[in-house]
Amino acid sequence: MDHQPEEVRYTRVDQDTCISCGACEMAAPDIFHHNDEGLAFSIIDGNQGIRPIPEELLMDLEDAYDGCPTESILISDSPFDTAVHSGDNNE
Ligand code: SF4
Repeated sequence: MDHQPEEVRYTRVDQDTCISCGACEMAAPDIFHHNDEGLAFSIIDGNQGIRPIPEELLMDLEDAYDGCPTESILISDSPFDTAVHSGDNNE
């Protein structure tokens, strides 16, 4: 058999485009919640996209991704680079 149990996904929400519709939290309540402003974020790692999504939640993640009307849910097979704004400081 060729089953691959080691599927690794990372996710975060682009809050610049999120319209607070709530669909992702309904589809994946163990991954996405909303902050005080109604914007969605990943509770897996504080919306940083640096911790792998548990395998048992990957189907929920797919559902949330497919259901987001603004394509604000970002998915990658490698950690998102959170240092992009802090590591390149030209004087
Ligand atoms: S489904 Fe998309 S637009 Fe709706 S709350 Fe979630 S991230 Fe925001």
